[in-house]
Amino acid sequence: MLDPLSLAVGAGLLAAGWVCGRFVPRRRTGSARKLTARCGCGHDLALHDRSTGTCHAESSRRGTHGLREWVQCNCRRYTGPTPLEDVFSPPILPPDN
Ligand SMILES: [Zn+2]
Ligand SMILES: [Zn+2]
Repeated sequence: MLDPLSLAVGAGLLAAGWVCGRFVPRRRTGSARKLTARCGCGHDLALHDRSTGTCHAESSRRGTHGLREWVQCNCRRYTGPTPLEDVFSPPILPPDN
């Protein structure tokens, strides 16, 4: 059962996350182009296990009864680029202008 309040809270959280994502500065001097460490499965490098390479991301889909079920990504190995400085989470800096 979903009541309108928790729906609104969920939507608010989604919006906040989206806004945060939008305002994270994408450009830093000299390293503008290599911030997309994205695997062929469409998930971030950070979501892949560093030792086994399997993807920990989960995606939701509608199950047979209309219920949402979560399935783990079936990616077994990260295939995207490996930007060294982005393996560790980059600091979030405010835009300086
Ligand atoms: Zn992957
Ligand atoms: Zn994946």
